[in-house]
Parts: sequence; C-alpha cells; structure tokens
Amino acid sequence: MKPANRPASLAEVVQGGLCSSCGICASIDPRIEMRLAPNGNLRPHLPADTDPALVEVCPGATVIGADPDALDEGTRLDPVWGPRRAMHRAWATDTDVRHTAAAGGVLTALGMFLLESGRVDAILHVRASGDDPTLTLPQISRTPAEVLSGAQSRYGPVAPLVPVMDLLAEGSRFAVIAKPCDLNAIRNLGRRDPRVDKQIVYLLTIFCGTTASRHMPRDMATAHGMDPDALTTFRYRGMGWPGLTTLEDAAGQRAELTYEEAYLNDDEPRWKYEAPWRCKVCPDQLGEVADLSVPDGWLLDADGTPLHDEAPGINVIFERTARGSELVEAAVAAGAIELGELSDRDFECMHADHRSYRLGEPGRLAALREAGAAEPRTQGYRFAQMIELAGDEFLAAQRDGTLDRIERGQASEPLV
Ligand SMILES: Cc1cc2nc3c(=O)[nH]c(=O)nc-3n(C[C@H](O)[C@H](O)[C@H](O)COP(=O)(O)OP(=O)(O)OC[C@H]3O[C@@H](n4cnc5c(N)ncnc54)[C@H](O)[C@@H]3O)c2cc1C
Repeated sequence: MKPANRPASLAEVVQGGLCSSCGICASIDPRIEMRLAPNGNLRPHLPADTDPALVEVCPGATVIGADPDALDEGTRLDPVWGPRRAMHRAWATDTDVRHTAAAGGVLTALGMFLLESGRVDAILHVRASGDDPTLTLPQISRTPAEVLSGAQSRYGPVAPLVPVMDLLAEGSRFAVIAKPCDLNAIRNLGRRDPRVDKQIVYLLTIFCGTTASRHMPRDMATAHGMDPDALTTFRYRGMGWPGLTTLEDAAGQRAELTYEEAYLNDDEPRWKYEAPWRCKVCPDQLGEVADLSVPDGWLLDADGTPLHDEAPGINVIFERTARGSELVEAAVAAGAIELGELSDRDFECMHADHRSYRLGEPGRLAALREAGAAEPRTQGYRFAQMIELAGDEFLAAQRDGTLDRIERGQASEPLV
C-alpha cells in the first residue's frame, strides 16, 4: 500500500481541500485571517511563517475520535454510531424556541438552560450576519436571548472557533455548540492546552450532512429575481420544522422554498448544494467526540422513509458522555426540554443516509491513499469494523466515486 500523504502544514491542508473553515488556526495565531475564497468557502490567509505544528490542532489534518478505553461507565461503542449511552426524541418545552429553531430547538434550549442555571458564562455558537445574511458569524452568547438569536441551521460557511482563545484567556467557562469538525478541533486543542478541559465544559453538536458554499444562497436569490447583494434575510430553515428557506430583500420582495425544493431537488439547475471536499471525505459527521449529538428526529412514513412535511419540531438526542447524560436529566428536571421514546428501528430509518455515509468512509479514504491525495490522520473510528459491515461492493463504489472526483480536480484548491 502507498504511504499516506499527510498534510505537513496548514497550507497543505488548504491545498489538499481539507480545510473545514473552523477558524481554530486564526484563533491561535491572530495574523491568520479567514477570507472568503472564490469557491464560496472560508479559508485561512496564512503568513509565510505559520507554525507547522498547527496541523496537530487542525481538523483537516487530525481527526481523533473518542478513546475506547476512556469511555464513561455505562457507555458502549456502537460500531456505526460511536459512543452511545441513551437516545431519545426531544424538543424544547418553550413553544417559541421550538418554532424558531432548526428542528425541535433542543440545542437552543440547552444553551439557554446552561446560562440560566449558571453552569457556564457563555455559549460559543453562530448566527447570521446582520450586514449580509448569506454570511454567518461566530456568536458569543451571554444571555438566553442571545442564544435564541443564533437558533437555526446555517448550512453556509462560518468559522465558529475564531473566538476560542480569547474566551480561554479571559477565564470564561463556556459551552460550544457547533459542527462535528469544529468539535474535533476543540478536542485537538485540548491535547495541547490544559485550559480546554477546565473551561470548555460542554460540547454539543449535530449530525452533519455537509456544509454548502456561499454560492448557494446567492444563486437562490438570483433564481428568484432578487439581487444577492440586497438581501436582508436569508434563513436556511427554522420558523417551523423543517421550516421554509426564506429570502427577503430591501425592496420588500420575498421568496419561500420548502426543504425539498431548496435542498433535495437534484433537477434544480439554478443552484446547487455544493459541499466542499473536506465534507465529502469527512471521517466523523456524527460528532463522536461531543457530549451530545442532536440531529433531526424526522417523522417517518409507514415504510420508514423520512418525511419533511411541516410539523412541530423534533430532535433526536444521542447521549455520548456521562456529562451529556447529566445535562439532559437536569434540563428535563428544569422544564427546558421534553423527551419522547425512540426505538432503534426509527432512529436507523431517520438517519439511514448517515449509516451509509459512515460505512463508505474506508472506501473514500482508500481512494485518497491510492491517488496520493491529502489524507487526514484519523484514529478511533473503527474502520476495520466498518469494512466488514459495508461489504466489498459498496466500498468499491465509494472508492471509485472518490477516485473519479479526485481526477476531476475536486481534491485540490489554491491558497487564498
Ligand atoms: C451544515 C449542517 C448540516 C446538517 N446536516 C444534518 C443532517 O444531515 N442530518 C440531521 O439530522 N441534522 C443535520 N443538521 C442539524 C439540523 O439541521 C439541526 O441543526 C439540528 O437537528 C439541531 O436542531 P435544533 O432545533 O436543536 O437547533 P437550534 O436550536 O436551531 O440550534 C442550532 C445551533 O447550532 C448552531 N449552528 C447552526 N449552524 C451552524 C454551523 N454551520 N456551524 C456551527 N454551529 C452552527 C446555531 O448557532 C445554534 O446554536 C445539520 C446542520 C448543519 C448546520
């Protein structure tokens, strides 16, 4: 087998298409600036003397899952879904939070509860930019109202971790609500900065089906006869479940699209959910290093197919650590969230796309190796077990698809 082409610097991470735009590098070295690249994603502008050791923190280069020997008592390691203690259907008790949020509002309700109960001083998450709603900014929330202002899924590019080092330096105890790759960066940082374990006391995440470039919201605006530079609102979803993708401009024009029209219509030529390369080969879309993963709790038809019809929002809470379980229990006791039962069968139906993505990862990594493309260092993701579960035919298809994309130039991009 060929040796892996591991990025030896942040420049190699970016050039190999592996930057996830988390912003941890810019947090550590303030000379690094996150810039919008021509491909519609945020990328670090790197000084020539950028510290090569930053690759150890970068989740484009280093993706380390939970240590199987250090799981909390009562946690089992599911071969597909990772550390698992319990799972539930769940939603925010407050109907405004539930309605405003992306799904059932659980992440927002937990963030609000963490502040109200004094467990943390701040929540680090994201919100839509007030100046250009196709952009998304990191948000440090210190009040429940501020947490609510960040409710919603922002599928587009954002660098949520840029404020991390400032929050650590000021001595704040805080929680991070962000994507799985962002949390990989926090765990990487924790291996070299002891303040992380003491001060970043909860890591809450989603299941992530990839981000989209900033071209998508702009192309949607154009397709609806609106000037992308004049948008006053771009909401990916929320205000209902899944909620309408909503565009508004200064002249009072408004467009609304259902979830299926916006994101699941492969025949729509006018915009595309264009995922960056890092997402296409992501080793952990499930947030295995979080305390809780909180995806959608989709309704199902009689055959178990997920429905995207409007309904009061429901999440799944997938508990991964004892700290996460304790948080769920306390938030229920305080009346912040409510739980419902969830069977293994329903969960598997809701997230069949993630099972299949997960099992295909060894095939995609094999393609990177074969083509000599940049490959992250991964550890703790049970690839041997996945190879057995996936079967040769499925893995070969994943490998071939990835090789094809590499040949078409998707695994490289220029520096900004
Ligand atoms: C890029 C992306 C892909 C997703 N893919 C899937 C999927 O495949 N399957 C699935 O079940 N669910 C997916 N989700 C999660 C889902 O859309 C909901 O966000 C999740 O179920 C939580 O719902 P909620 O009502 O608790 O969220 P809310 O209460 O609305 O809270 C969401 C929180 O996440 C933060 N946030 C939003 N976007 C980002 C971002 N880009 N980066 C960092 N933090 C962010 C917000 O600031 C907020 O604090 C995805 C979300 C995103 C952002």
